[in-house]
Amino acid sequence: MIEIKCPTCGLLTIYSSENPSRPFCSERCKLIDLGQWADQTYKIPSAPVSIDTLIDIDDADEIEPKD
Ligand SMILES: [Zn+2]
Repeated sequence: MIEIKCPTCGLLTIYSSENPSRPFCSERCKLIDLGQWADQTYKIPSAPVSIDTLIDIDDADEIEPKD
């Protein structure tokens, strides 16, 4: 097992395939290092919803208003 220091925060973290954010300790530190922290990329942790997706949902049959 290889332990390394996270380049962003210095926390000891495991460098292996079990850590998808390696060499960072977390996805958060990875995003900070990539410079995405400051802009809006990290505002919504889940997948971003595009305008196209919103239109698709609006047109979907199963989301008809209850009457
Ligand atoms: Zn870190």
